[in-house]
Amino acid sequence: MTTDPRSLYSLIPSTDRLLNAGEFAGLLADFGHTRVVATLRQMQDDAREHIRQHQSLPDWCADWAGALGCRLASARQSALRPVFNLTGTVLHTNLGRAIQPQEAVEAVSQAMASPVTLEYSLEGAGRGHRDQALAALLCELTGAEDACIVNNNAAAVLLMLAACASGQEVVVSRGELVEIGGAFRIPDVMRQAGCQLREVGTTNRTHLKDYQAAVNDQTALLMKVHTSNYHIEGFTKSVSEQELVTLGDTLGIPVITDLGSGSLVDLSQYGLPAEPMPRQLIAAGVSLVSFSGDKLLGGPQAGIIVGKKALIERLQQHPLKRALRADKMTLAALEATLRLYQHPETLAERLPTLRLLTRSAEDIRAQAERLLAPLQARYGADFLVAVEPCLSQIGSGSLPVDRLPGAALTFTPRDGRGSTLEALANGWRAALVPVIGHISDGRLWLDLRCLEDEAGLMEILLS
Ligand SMILES: *Cc1c(COP(=O)(O)O)cnc(C)c1O
Repeated sequence: MTTDPRSLYSLIPSTDRLLNAGEFAGLLADFGHTRVVATLRQMQDDAREHIRQHQSLPDWCADWAGALGCRLASARQSALRPVFNLTGTVLHTNLGRAIQPQEAVEAVSQAMASPVTLEYSLEGAGRGHRDQALAALLCELTGAEDACIVNNNAAAVLLMLAACASGQEVVVSRGELVEIGGAFRIPDVMRQAGCQLREVGTTNRTHLKDYQAAVNDQTALLMKVHTSNYHIEGFTKSVSEQELVTLGDTLGIPVITDLGSGSLVDLSQYGLPAEPMPRQLIAAGVSLVSFSGDKLLGGPQAGIIVGKKALIERLQQHPLKRALRADKMTLAALEATLRLYQHPETLAERLPTLRLLTRSAEDIRAQAERLLAPLQARYGADFLVAVEPCLSQIGSGSLPVDRLPGAALTFTPRDGRGSTLEALANGWRAALVPVIGHISDGRLWLDLRCLEDEAGLMEILLS
């Protein structure tokens, strides 16, 4: 190309000339005049800048329509793009945790598109209360007297503390002062709720007498926090909810529990590690139990509090409830998800979280074997492609020490270079539907536990 910058600048077409070219008609119809013109102006600036720096036209100037189409399409990509989660973590917080059941998807579309009886009682033709319909379902599933639903479990904990113990003391074991990730730490939430934290016991051992000694006329609550994302082993002792409730009853102080994940069904019946259930704590006499909607429950992001009627009533009346309440889409999705629990026989099939968690290692391995040959044909020159056993994680702080045996496809670069591996991982992350695996041991692992759309994945990997 010529190096006289002045003649190079004259090769940048005017906006009018570009817009009148027939090949722009489709883009104008698709994206609209305003966006097309703004993007073309940006491209002209970019071309001028390129000439200033390199004394040449950028390559894309050979096809303005094509380059414009690419820019517009990539700017239109959603911020919430669907991906293949082959990380091996089923409830992946950064990938949006639980995938919703089809029933929830339909319920949400309906709630979005039409007025609904959110806070409207058809019997009384007046105002109802937005958690009412779901409270009945939650009571049936947990044995509680009433329920309250907020934005997430962090909000649930904040609301419980603010409504029941503001300006007073809450007794918690030192071994349960957890950090969940992000800015959620029990001592900080306590402060935000206006409560005074009374730590008792030690990191590894807390006894009933420690709680007993800490109680005074300022004590509003005894609190248990499920240590969901870590595990202490060895010389340990903690006080069960049951024991704490007995103490609380004699002193007239309610016991509350932040259960974190909280499964509504006994997971051990599916061969999964057991996780404490809200129903058990309610039966033990705990006054309020909070848990997440999008962890083991497998529904939308929500914080669910179940427990005694009088205390739930206090939560419903508190001004923070208004700030933390769930919206109609969340409530619609949660209701549809909870209804699946009323039919436990089909739960493991219809609830995606449970369906993925209960996939057998043999099933996943068979799937990996099916995909192996075409992937070897496509990638075999540069990578050793193999099927390997692996251990998946439930994720979201649930059951951190328990792993689920499964299978993965692994890609080991024949040249032994980390850069070759990175390039493969980057290429897949940049795909139309990004494929997300993980690198360890000098290999790229695609854990297939969460792969349901086999054909869709192969289309991406073989393209
Ligand atoms: C996950 C978790 C939370 C936070 O729940 P979100 O629904 O993510 O807000 C709080 N407490 C415990 C014990 C948890 O495991």
